[in-house]
Amino acid sequence: MEISDSLKRIPSSYIREILAAASDKNVISLAGGLPDEKTFPIDLMTPTLAELSCMPNVFQYGATAGYGPLIDYLTTRFQLPESHSVMITTGSQQGLDLIARAYINPGDVVVMEAPSYLGAMQVFGLVQANIVTVSQNESGPDLDELEQCFKTHSPKMFYAVPDFHNPTGVCWSLATRQHVAALCIEYKVAFIEDAPYRELRFTGEALPFVSDFCPNDSILLRSFSKIASPGLRLGAVSGKSEFIAPLIKVKQGADLHSSVPMQALLLGLLQHEDFPLHMENIRSLYQTRYQVLFSALEKQLPENCTAHAVDGGMFVWVELPPCDTFALAKTLLANGVAVVPSPVFYPQPDQARAALRLNFTNATEEALEEAVSRLAQGLNQVI
Ligand code: PMP
Repeated sequence: MEISDSLKRIPSSYIREILAAASDKNVISLAGGLPDEKTFPIDLMTPTLAELSCMPNVFQYGATAGYGPLIDYLTTRFQLPESHSVMITTGSQQGLDLIARAYINPGDVVVMEAPSYLGAMQVFGLVQANIVTVSQNESGPDLDELEQCFKTHSPKMFYAVPDFHNPTGVCWSLATRQHVAALCIEYKVAFIEDAPYRELRFTGEALPFVSDFCPNDSILLRSFSKIASPGLRLGAVSGKSEFIAPLIKVKQGADLHSSVPMQALLLGLLQHEDFPLHMENIRSLYQTRYQVLFSALEKQLPENCTAHAVDGGMFVWVELPPCDTFALAKTLLANGVAVVPSPVFYPQPDQARAALRLNFTNATEEALEEAVSRLAQGLNQVI
């Protein structure tokens, strides 16, 4: 059977290929975006797991918007105003898919930063959005370029990851957050704020969401993958109720609802008295790993390469002098370290600036040190 034209336009995932190669036990993988399994708070979920056996109602079909007690809990926790609502999604990835399918007609313009999250490029590509990019600097998108883009293209939405961007780790400054929100209001562009890494801040104070400055012109996606576990497949989408209602309609056709027992398990976890301690432990583990990776990079990277410091998240972005980053990634793999080359993260890969994404959350400190030695060795051979 022939696949659809829109699917034909989606390239096969290079990351999946490199992850398959990286499963070789001689390879240290900094390629994935995986949390460390040892951080999964299974012990904090055990009491709820036991209770589930006495809750047959959660094994019944449930409401599309989500498990009522979890919705109530999150409505309070997120301090949602009366006019706003939250719905539960099967990971924040589904939230993105629902938004694309509810709101995008073929040819509608969606603005993204370049580089950008691969999964969002796929979702917007599948609904045949016209993806227009703006460049990113140390404090977020280039604001002049963004305004010019809003003026020229009249986009429907601006999709971004303001907290610890995937792949660059950039966290937008407060001024940028306010400015972007003001532009979205002025040019009537919906801001789609994707925040799966926000809770993984290990340095400094949390900044407001961009959505806080444009609450009626935005949709906010959160994920429980990094703070609970990705296998639960749970995320939450919030915004003005009239923005959320169409998403519920699309979700009915997608999967009826996210798993109710998993939602009950998540609720038990979030309410557990030791949940804040669990969050502290994750942040501290990832901070240690980041520091090991970053200081090794600073010591060993060739002079013409730059590793960008981060305050949280899961990734470090290493900028390189112009080179064939795919060939480089192949050489590095042969040297026993897997990384992701920058063109993968660009809607127009030929416009990519040479760089590599390194993940620091799923390798031990010793493995990170060894990975940087192999990386530096490979870079010295090629660059
Ligand atoms: N958005 C971004 C920026 C991501 O990096 C990811 C994957 N980690 C997701 C969304 C999807 O996350 P999930 O579906 O596991 O919540």
